[in-house]
Amino acid sequence: MPKTLSEQAHAGIHGLSAYVPGKPIEHLKRELGLTSIIKLASNENPLGTAPAALEALAHFDGDLYRYPDGSGYELKQKIATRHGVNPDRVTLGNGSDDILELTGRVFLGPGKNAVVSKHSFAVYPIVARAVGAEVREVPALPADADMPYGHDLDAMLAAINDRTGVVFIANPNNPTGTWATPAALTAFLDRVPPAVVVVLDQAYIEYQTQDTVADEADWLARYDNLVITRTFSKIFGMAGLRFGYGLSSTTVADFLNRIRQPFNVNMIALHCAAAAIDDHDFIARSIESNTRERARLIDALAARGLACLPSQANFVTFDTARDARPVYDALLHEGVIVRPLAGYGLPTHLRVTVGGAADNDRFIAALDRVLAR
Ligand code: PMP
Repeated sequence: MPKTLSEQAHAGIHGLSAYVPGKPIEHLKRELGLTSIIKLASNENPLGTAPAALEALAHFDGDLYRYPDGSGYELKQKIATRHGVNPDRVTLGNGSDDILELTGRVFLGPGKNAVVSKHSFAVYPIVARAVGAEVREVPALPADADMPYGHDLDAMLAAINDRTGVVFIANPNNPTGTWATPAALTAFLDRVPPAVVVVLDQAYIEYQTQDTVADEADWLARYDNLVITRTFSKIFGMAGLRFGYGLSSTTVADFLNRIRQPFNVNMIALHCAAAAIDDHDFIARSIESNTRERARLIDALAARGLACLPSQANFVTFDTARDARPVYDALLHEGVIVRPLAGYGLPTHLRVTVGGAADNDRFIAALDRVLAR
């Protein structure tokens, strides 16, 4: 019988630290008394929220005293149409984090392991350890590779053993921005044992402008062990509403559905996401702005001798060539919030979200002042 609450908490929990999000603007206001602050720390959309979602919100007349549609019928249909798949392959989530967690709860547990890459999304190890599974962290590609710090898919394949339940791949990856080509991914999927689930986290996929010929519907038809996750937090500008989804075989979707909270997606998120999904103009504008500003940011950093990792996402990760923490702190005093990456094994790097032109200029100007000190 455990004697303390700490002993009562299961072993996996003791190895965990809570996820550290980007610093909220209000926190910095309180801490430093600043009034003008820009946040380029959480990969949010600088264009704001999809106008179609805002319009839907303004006209929302749902009965909030009732439960939402737990099956998310209408939204599921729209997502299925978007991807050319059957609706019973779609699982709706309270953000895509929800789908990651459901997958871990179904396919991981004590005695099992999850294979992840170093410098990858922090939620994967949390999801695995939370259910008592081990994390097999595979070294990333070296700093001088074509895709520096990217996923080493061959090494990840070699790390799979008979206890592996899930492999997590972020493509493009957060926090590096690196990516794998569709050919590399299918070569990988072809070799993964069929009972090992591969989560392909596509939170940033809409920002990818190179190597983009992936045909998810075809992949889903070929790989019953594939779970693709998507989010409305990035390109749709709906991070605050919380909505994401999974695409998988019906077998996997059925398992996820069994343990899903019955009403995991709230009524307003269902309503707004169903409207946003057809806002093609906003998506196109968001991609155009990101592609332009990402290139400008990379050029500006490179012109200052700061090496950037290749990015196909809506952020750029660059090497400050020194301990990045003091740079991060000094930027905070300039009212600019970026993301320090020591917790991701990149202590000299910082990650900056691609903002609008004015915010990006302000970031570069602040960085110049900080680095000149
Ligand atoms: N996957 C990756 C790679 C991410 O960077 C994020 C957001 N930081 C998520 C998933 C989760 O996004 P959400 O839960 O908002 O959909």
